[in-house]
Amino acid sequence: MAGDVDVLVRQVMEKLQNGGKAGSAGIFKNMNDAVEACARAQKEYVKLSLTARSRVIDAIRKVIYDNAEELSRLTVEETKMGNYEDKIAKNRLVADKTPGVEDLKSEAMTGDSGLTLIELSPFGVIGAITPTTNPTETLFCNSIGMLAAGNGVVFSPHPTAKMVSLKTITLINRAITASGAPANLVTAVENPTLEQTNAMVSHPKVNLLVATGGPGVVRAVLSSGKKAIGAGAGNPPAVIDESANIEKAAVDIIRGCSFDYNLPCVAEKEVIVEEKVADYLLFCMKGSGLAHIIEDRSALRRLEELLLAADTPNKNFIGRSPQVIGESVGLRVDEKIKVLCMEVPFEHPFVQHELMMPVLPIVRVKDFDEAMKKAIEVEHGYRHTAIMHSRNVEHLSAMAKAIQTTIFVKNAPSYAGIGVGGEGHTTFTIAGPTGEGLTSAKTFTRKRRCVLADSFNIR
Ligand code: NAD
Repeated sequence: MAGDVDVLVRQVMEKLQNGGKAGSAGIFKNMNDAVEACARAQKEYVKLSLTARSRVIDAIRKVIYDNAEELSRLTVEETKMGNYEDKIAKNRLVADKTPGVEDLKSEAMTGDSGLTLIELSPFGVIGAITPTTNPTETLFCNSIGMLAAGNGVVFSPHPTAKMVSLKTITLINRAITASGAPANLVTAVENPTLEQTNAMVSHPKVNLLVATGGPGVVRAVLSSGKKAIGAGAGNPPAVIDESANIEKAAVDIIRGCSFDYNLPCVAEKEVIVEEKVADYLLFCMKGSGLAHIIEDRSALRRLEELLLAADTPNKNFIGRSPQVIGESVGLRVDEKIKVLCMEVPFEHPFVQHELMMPVLPIVRVKDFDEAMKKAIEVEHGYRHTAIMHSRNVEHLSAMAKAIQTTIFVKNAPSYAGIGVGGEGHTTFTIAGPTGEGLTSAKTFTRKRRCVLADSFNIR
């Protein structure tokens, strides 16, 4: 299968590149050419009107709609991670709920000294590093936001999602060029490697870096000496206190945890539940028919051996289905099952590590204070996402204040925090470490002050 994907993408790339100017599909042999071409394109692009810019953004939304199925299939084939239907939903979410040019709101001040405007201007060329867990979603979401803000973008996609990422970039380029944007406003190199990423990071014409991935890449951009936005790892706890609607919480947590086989950084990674309601939670999870509760200690031991290689998550099982994981340790897992659950102590590596698998450890604690303390500890200071199920306003408020996560979801699946069944826009670049939060077009701008002295105060 993966071989088919390689051939297909190579054919597409050859056709695109041989049919037009070299690099006209945005893909270049070396990083310097990719950055230079993007910088030239961006200089032309900023001359377009905002209406023309909006047409470019609409073209990207259409590319997503026209290609969500195929790109999702190719992503699963190439990365061997995630769930086809959920990936389609994630791509469409980006098309529907990523803000465009309307996100750029100017500020105005008038007074005796005249009129001052604060305008949101582009950085120029952005270097964006994208993950393997949401490859096309991040490319599309970043492209919409960064181009809406007037920038060009050079992407450095994850090597394990190379084929589908390059195909996505060529599709974006073709569509935006047809809608009036200059060629090569979105670029990449044909063989993305760590060396190429480093060349991008240090290129003098890259004005802003945006990294979406684990702690390593966030550290790399933050130590570059350039302005950088870091969207890093999470380990979102779901806390349940005794006041919660337990039947609803059980299903919400399973739905959030199992979305795209737990690949989203916001997805529930462990449950911390008050002792008084723990048994009932497990009963409701089992009763939903969506969770397979592992009670047999020897099955749990086999699972630990399978999923943890030297105490770190086994890459071969990241984003795999509960059926594949369960059957690998001899469990019969019904097709309807969405997560494998088990009760474990707080120190268990399934709790402490961001597994990114539909495997949900449950930790029982004596009261709410202990739940809050443990949730904060297991979030590891990432400031990413936490979920809480409770009808006690004081508990909800105390937890939100104490845990300091960028996203705090109350009484819903985690994905409500990125706009699915929750208010607000979506993003696949959630900048916790550097504080921009849920990024959108305005995140990728510089604030500039434009002053007209003495006139236009007409109050
Ligand atoms: P990863 O860190 O392995 O890779 C992400 C990107 O960074 C890739 O393009 C990779 O090639 C590059 N990279 C990795 N180390 C680098 C280094 N030292 N220097 C330069 N580039 C480097 O992450 P992944 O497995 O693709 O994605 C999963 C991780 O990303 C999880 O930890 C997840 O929580 C996180 N994530 C966060 C967000 C967010 O919005 N905060 C979104 C998606 C994923």
